[in-house]
Amino acid sequence: MTEEIEVSDFVMMNDITEQSMMELLKKRFENDKIYTLIRDVVVSVNPYKKLDIYSEKYIDRYRGKNIYELPPHIYSVADTAFLNLRDLGQDQCIIISGESGAGKTEASKLIMEYIAAVSGDSLEVDKVKSKLLESNPVLEAFGNAKTTRNDNSSRFGKYMDLQFDFLGNPIGGMITTYLLEKSRVVNPAKDERTFHIFYHLLGGADKALLDKLHLTSNFTDYEYLKKSNCSTVPGLNDKTQFDAILNALDCIGFKQDQKDTLFKCISAILHVGNIKYKKNENNDENVIIENPEVCKTIAELLDVKCEDLMNALTYRTVIDKNKSSNQKNIKVPLNLAKALSCQDTLAKTLYEKLFSWLVNVINENIFHTKDDGSHRSVIGVLDIYGFEIFQVNGFEQFTINYCNEKLQQLFIELTLKSEQEEYNNEGIQWENIDFFNNQIICDLIESKTNSIIALLNEECIRPGEKSDMTFLNKLNSSIIKNPHYDSREKTRNIKEIDINMFKIKHYAGDVVYTVDGFIEKNNDLLYNDISFVLNSSKNPHLPIMFPQNLENISLKSPETISTQFKNSMNQLIKNLTAKNPHYIRCIKPNNDKKSGVFDDELCLHQCRYLGLLENIRVRRAGYCFRKEFSKFVERFKLICEDTWPNWKGDPQEGVRRILKEANIQEEDYCFGKTKVFIKKPQIVFQLENIRNE
Ligand code: ATP
Ligand code: MG
Repeated sequence: MTEEIEVSDFVMMNDITEQSMMELLKKRFENDKIYTLIRDVVVSVNPYKKLDIYSEKYIDRYRGKNIYELPPHIYSVADTAFLNLRDLGQDQCIIISGESGAGKTEASKLIMEYIAAVSGDSLEVDKVKSKLLESNPVLEAFGNAKTTRNDNSSRFGKYMDLQFDFLGNPIGGMITTYLLEKSRVVNPAKDERTFHIFYHLLGGADKALLDKLHLTSNFTDYEYLKKSNCSTVPGLNDKTQFDAILNALDCIGFKQDQKDTLFKCISAILHVGNIKYKKNENNDENVIIENPEVCKTIAELLDVKCEDLMNALTYRTVIDKNKSSNQKNIKVPLNLAKALSCQDTLAKTLYEKLFSWLVNVINENIFHTKDDGSHRSVIGVLDIYGFEIFQVNGFEQFTINYCNEKLQQLFIELTLKSEQEEYNNEGIQWENIDFFNNQIICDLIESKTNSIIALLNEECIRPGEKSDMTFLNKLNSSIIKNPHYDSREKTRNIKEIDINMFKIKHYAGDVVYTVDGFIEKNNDLLYNDISFVLNSSKNPHLPIMFPQNLENISLKSPETISTQFKNSMNQLIKNLTAKNPHYIRCIKPNNDKKSGVFDDELCLHQCRYLGLLENIRVRRAGYCFRKEFSKFVERFKLICEDTWPNWKGDPQEGVRRILKEANIQEEDYCFGKTKVFIKKPQIVFQLENIRNE
């Protein structure tokens, strides 16, 4: 048995079946061997406990070693990416995927730490490194939250470029974030929390700061925090975290006024949740704010006029179009429902804009501009929110799961499809290996016409009465035939899908979505009045968060959230495709966040949808190395007298002579139409070694 667990690459298993794959994965996991390879892809199973494999000693061990020389480790991936970048000058990317709680964020941090440890160490470079590393706790505080699936769940997508100079010294970075789940601010689900920072601040700030922000340390004083009935996370100390955040902000270079702005806005949001409305007895259509003193506090924190704020929370300004030559603004009172929605929109939008602003400030402090010519190449690290299924799934889960479909598509493209296509194109004998291609699901979601996003957008801009239900009807009449779509309309009498729901059969499992809120969230309208008030703030950072561009007022409707998200996803895929990819496939061993428990069914399900078995088969049957004949000769010509210093003959013949000279057996390589293919990585090292000698 111990022999078996020493098989550290699935490709080396004696027989390649689902069962043997799962047995190996389980045995290794039970022996704390959480990493296993599929050639250069690392499969990682979340141990849910601290393993002693991330110390300095380990970093030294993996430094500059080939991925097959040592037991599989995430450090190997980081090392390979780093060496490729430094020695070959190629842009790299590390794509980390897996469902919520599988260990993506931890993996991305380990990678950054490793790269920081092995790259240059001058005083200047060290400063850059700490800034890059300290961006992690800050982003997690503002962008992560406790969910039922993960105590530290990323509620935004993150892509980070690490920039390096010619020598491989880190010189900066650039963070791109994707759609933050802002609804959490006003509506955290039961047993979940809103974003960590709220609790860090209340539990960690000293009395003086709390007083300044008009806060108490009591969570139950705040409506938004009270809702979910959960304020602490086991093993997470809000006080320690808060101190760490303060340190991190200083290290990154946040100025005092920027830090003040962060905390004032967080406090203002908590107070917004405490605003209470009551009906105006004289006028049904109008509401009154019951506790104006709360508004006074908010106005003070945000540095706006209290009167303006209260107006924006109870009235809406519309342009009287009847008198087009002489346009007049009229104030329309908000009814209770509209006022409540305006209140939550204020809180959500303020948080969202604050988050983007925060990311911008970090970027201003870490980004290294290219113009002095020292910038050379980047390693991009992608850590995005994982596939998730909750009790109730809304617009947010829809976008998160769509994003995961796109990443799966990229994985298929890079490791299964293009690989096999190349063998076919090159005329190499190849038995095609079947795999499930989720393109059909991507199309269902994002096609230009007749997709869920296209129909949602149509419904959002259509004039006339519309609601989430009219949107659902539209889906039902247009895409009901798609095998990955289901609804009550299609499958009658199924309890699981209620009348206001639809189901998508995702690559990673079936998810039933509730349509409530789709139209509103897709439109994402901020009441103009609110935006005006925040723009008028005396705090110079707020007008930056709420620019008053004329576009807002123009008649052209702004891009919907789903369109923006779709565009940013396609941009991301394009960006990743242009780099040399490395993959980490994370697996969650059980649903209880427990160490030592390997839930067979759950793990099998993940391995299946991740396409690991197909990945193993393609790699096993395939070739680890390929190069065009002439490029191969160029690289290895000094191995052989015939080809050194210049080979003028047929390139393929040149390759043949080099391989013969190096004593490579014929069964270990093969010629395609334009390239030579080599099966085993060992052969490639052998060639490199001879060349280096
Ligand atoms: P989400 O999609 O929800 O953001 P995720 O894949 O980013 O999920 P993580 O936050 O990285 O998941 O991991 C969840 C938890 O699992 C961590 O907070 C940590 O407790 C534990 N964990 C993950 N990876 C490791 C590891 N390598 N060693 C020890 N514990 C780990
Ligand atoms: Mg995460």
